[in-house]
Amino acid sequence: MDWSIFLADVASEVTLVHRRNEFRGALDSVEKVQQLKNQGKINLITPGEVVGLKGDGKLESVIIRKTSNAAEDITLEVDNFIPLFGLSPKLGPIADWGLEIEKNAIKVDTFDYQTNIPGIYAIGDVNTYPGKLKLILCGFHEATLMCQSAYQRIFPR
Ligand SMILES: Cc1cc2nc3c(=O)[nH]c(=O)nc-3n(C[C@H](O)[C@H](O)[C@H](O)COP(=O)(O)OP(=O)(O)OC[C@H]3O[C@@H](n4cnc5c(N)ncnc54)[C@H](O)[C@@H]3O)c2cc1C
Repeated sequence: MDWSIFLADVASEVTLVHRRNEFRGALDSVEKVQQLKNQGKINLITPGEVVGLKGDGKLESVIIRKTSNAAEDITLEVDNFIPLFGLSPKLGPIADWGLEIEKNAIKVDTFDYQTNIPGIYAIGDVNTYPGKLKLILCGFHEATLMCQSAYQRIFPR
């Protein structure tokens, strides 16, 4: 959405393709995209998925699938394609370490971000505690306190 909002003032035409009708981004960005759509500055295609790129040495068009029926695919002529995909975090083997897990995140003590296993810390999006916010700033704060604690653990004196 941020790219679309920025490019709406730069590119002659912008098409935003998103796999769902709803957006999970900041409400302000969602509203701006909607306004730009109403002003005709952004073409919004939802739900939709880019399923192919066409061109000969240079991108010429993208193929957009709106329904499960491939016969209804749209071919859109473009100069550029900016793929921005989301994340689906998985704990992987960490889930088997005996750490306390809640909703796919590792529970920590906010005193020093230690887990239920002494000496194992978890900071950033991977952890959870009451009031947790998944933000860069919070990750830095957690890292600072965690490092203080880890340092004292390694060098007790
Ligand atoms: C679209 C979007 C916009 C955002 N905007 C903001 C914002 O404006 N301000 C803000 O403060 N926060 C924002 N955030 C949140 C912010 O990005 C996260 O809180 C922050 O990046 C978390 O940092 P992290 O290091 O904990 O996790 P991540 O940045 O997710 O880093 C985890 C890393 O571990 C890697 N990894 C995962 N599994 C494995 C494995 N098994 N082996 C090796 N590596 C692995 C991943 O590839 C990734 O590189 C935004 C998030 C999103 C998705």
